[in-house]
Amino acid sequence: MTDDTPPLRPATRIAAAGRRKEWTQGIVNTPVWRASTILFDSVADLRRASASPNDRLYYGRRGTPTQWSLADALTELEPGAAGTMLYPSGVAAIAMALLSVLKPGDELLMVDSAYEPTRAFCRNVLAPMGITTRFYDPLAGGAIADLFSDATRAIFLESPGSLTFEVQDVPAICAAANARGIVTLLDNTWATPLYFPALAKGVDLTILACTKYIVGHSDAMLGSVTATAGHFEALRRTTHQFGQHVGPDDAALASRGLRTLDVRLRQHQAGALEVARWLETHPGVARVLHPALPTCPGHAIWARDFAGSTGLFAFVLQGGDDAARAALIDGLDHFGIGFSWGGFESLALPVDPAAIRSATRWQAEGPVVRLHIGLEDPADLIADLKRGLDRFAAGG
Ligand SMILES: *Cc1c(COP(=O)(O)O)cnc(C)c1O
Repeated sequence: MTDDTPPLRPATRIAAAGRRKEWTQGIVNTPVWRASTILFDSVADLRRASASPNDRLYYGRRGTPTQWSLADALTELEPGAAGTMLYPSGVAAIAMALLSVLKPGDELLMVDSAYEPTRAFCRNVLAPMGITTRFYDPLAGGAIADLFSDATRAIFLESPGSLTFEVQDVPAICAAANARGIVTLLDNTWATPLYFPALAKGVDLTILACTKYIVGHSDAMLGSVTATAGHFEALRRTTHQFGQHVGPDDAALASRGLRTLDVRLRQHQAGALEVARWLETHPGVARVLHPALPTCPGHAIWARDFAGSTGLFAFVLQGGDDAARAALIDGLDHFGIGFSWGGFESLALPVDPAAIRSATRWQAEGPVVRLHIGLEDPADLIADLKRGLDRFAAGG
């Protein structure tokens, strides 16, 4: 390629990413290599492998081409990345990313709209290690610099926020952090690198719960952290010290899911927008929390920074109580009731964001429902929700 060749578009990169000939041996998909012991030809060969264990088959815990192929693909999808480490879940990825940058005495700034298990990790693991956490307003933007102390070592972002969907000014926060040598970490599970290229926007370590849109079929758990050159070695060291490993079968499922990520996200995006816009017009709905709608806090930043929106959003009911919300959800025909999201199927979940906050107050006109819009026809989902809102209006 010459210098004036435009960068390949995401759908094209997704089809080829991670499929190195040395790993596939000519098969379209990298095979599932199951391994613990790797056998060497001689003591000298074993010693050579020990000297560079990241570059060749060494021991099962360090992975095989099955896991390397997935990690390599995720690195290729993230402009500015030096490498990717894989984890058995999204929460494990968040834990390892934080532990790779923090040490006792450090202070972490954590967004107040973070995924609840991320908050719990700060409380239950970091605090007893002598690492303090201060929560900050998701809409702080560059003014986050006012919170910096000499101990501030890292800022954790999640945009849009879990449950409430505020969009953060990631470039402004990263610029402020960079100026002070503070490390930035982003939970980018909602947008994926296709709709928000995190490292290109200034983030140092970007985290995905691959369980969601990368796997995409609700049948495997996986996480990843992709880092810049300045942070990848520490991440790899920490990951190896904690013995993190992903099974080859799960890695192969994630690689298979990845190939259709672009086309699935387009459909999730279109379906979710159709449902969200319909909900906005319904008198039983007070507000819809969806980054692509102008009423969402941070919408202008979403429009500036993101290449698209995905299938997860929430809506606030007008008045009513928990029982009425349960009546709405319980009778739905096309929405499952359960945690996680990112599969082909639609889900509905009762959520209570106000109880989780500490730095900001979150107020609502009524109970909140989070939806994941799957790949079903949106007209059927809307009809289902219409019946649900009738049950809600009847008071459960
Ligand atoms: C689900 C989720 C996680 C955790 O992923 P698991 O694979 O379930 O551990 C992390 N961050 C966000 C935003 C999530 O939605």
